[in-house]
Amino acid sequence: MLQQIKQQIDRLRALGADYADARWVPVEENNYLLMWNGNLKEAVLQRESGIGIRVIYKGAWGFSAASDLSDLPGLFGKALDNAKAASHRVTFPVRLADKEAVKAKFASPCQINPFQVPFGEKVAFMQNMDERLNQAGVFQRIADLTFVRKQIVFVDSEGSEIEKHVTEVFAGLQVLGQDSQGETHERKFVLGRNGSLSRGWESIDREKFAENAERIVRELNMVLVADQCPKDERTVILLPGIMWLQTHETIGHPLELDRILGYELAYAGGSFVTLDDFGSLRYGSEKLTARADATLPNTPGSFGYDDDGVPCQNTVLIDKGILVGAITGRQMVEEANAKAGKTIFASSGGCNRASSFYRVPIERMTNINIDPGQDGTLDDIIRDTERGIVLDGERSWSIGSNREQFHFGTEIAWLVEDGERTKVVKNPTYQGDTVRFWNSLSAVGDESTVEVAWVPNCGKGQPNQVMQLGHAAPVCRFENVRIGE
Ligand SMILES: [Zn+2]
Repeated sequence: MLQQIKQQIDRLRALGADYADARWVPVEENNYLLMWNGNLKEAVLQRESGIGIRVIYKGAWGFSAASDLSDLPGLFGKALDNAKAASHRVTFPVRLADKEAVKAKFASPCQINPFQVPFGEKVAFMQNMDERLNQAGVFQRIADLTFVRKQIVFVDSEGSEIEKHVTEVFAGLQVLGQDSQGETHERKFVLGRNGSLSRGWESIDREKFAENAERIVRELNMVLVADQCPKDERTVILLPGIMWLQTHETIGHPLELDRILGYELAYAGGSFVTLDDFGSLRYGSEKLTARADATLPNTPGSFGYDDDGVPCQNTVLIDKGILVGAITGRQMVEEANAKAGKTIFASSGGCNRASSFYRVPIERMTNINIDPGQDGTLDDIIRDTERGIVLDGERSWSIGSNREQFHFGTEIAWLVEDGERTKVVKNPTYQGDTVRFWNSLSAVGDESTVEVAWVPNCGKGQPNQVMQLGHAAPVCRFENVRIGE
């Protein structure tokens, strides 16, 4: 098959294509299980395979895709025909940033293939967790498991040949309860880094899940009898369970280069960031260094090579508060540099990914991380805070379409008075303007406070593409933030 694909790429080049690539997915499997109050509500097993072909002809993309590989010449010819038709209506000719063609293999670390684990063992795990969650105060309990396994073979007309084997596991527990006024509250645990470097079934660490099941039930019961979060302006301490969302929505999405160039305006939204801002915008305080790091081995934001065939990288986005980088792919860096009339981006950041063989790659977050700081542990940061609030667990989110403002609700919060955690409050919320908020960053926890969140469901693109990625974030503290409104 690989030989036939290469022959077709050569044939398109001979027919006048400037560039061609193919993403052949021999197999992609998805397995999703959901248990609700002890009942197995969903058990889904999906399997698909196929090929997606991209062609550039006179500055225009053409694309075709199919599951049926019996007529490769027809399929490749269709992609070229589509590019030829589109070439009559080009407004900005597509150019791809240079890259080195590589012949390589990548496999995400996996010790136990989750697709070889018996169905009964997965259900037994969820039943066990459900029993642990079945405690006083809990009126709904949810356990979910998602497994992904795919093989992708990428070939292009520049000589790249890359084979990837990717396995992912996502899992979570959630409890809901009602307070005396009949209002619903919730608390959850979502599997992230568990100390190992692996992403297979072995990352379902029963002991860790059991501990966290106990903790979320305990914390839910604290929320159920808590007072309302005050309306106030306070110092806010974000735990990694909400820092990941803060980072995702107000650093990750606004720094996707296609959004900055206006390509997502019709759906996901734009960005307050302009091309003039790179190298000068003070995005945050000096304590803020953020990066797109696709080289962490133990997270779905690391995938070896992107769908342009560019190796994964560790790119600084914000350096001690100054905006210096973006989430980029080969096409957008060329367009951004041309539109800016200068070289902002030296090369592709390796962030172009497609969710399936039948979708085209677009710029996606990898692992958008905040570097740990020098302000010690969570306890150190609390001790150093006069009037504050500690927030954890995302519950609601509302974000300006250009990511310039945000309002987030969390599952739980603890007030801080004179360096001590005092009481839990319910319905906590906080809000801010993105740049002003990051500039108020006054403390960043050390390595001991960092957790990696695994995110299974970031949506973007038309038609929609759901992508997996990650965020490594320490505990962070921000000043003068409006809460409880
Ligand atoms: Zn997202």
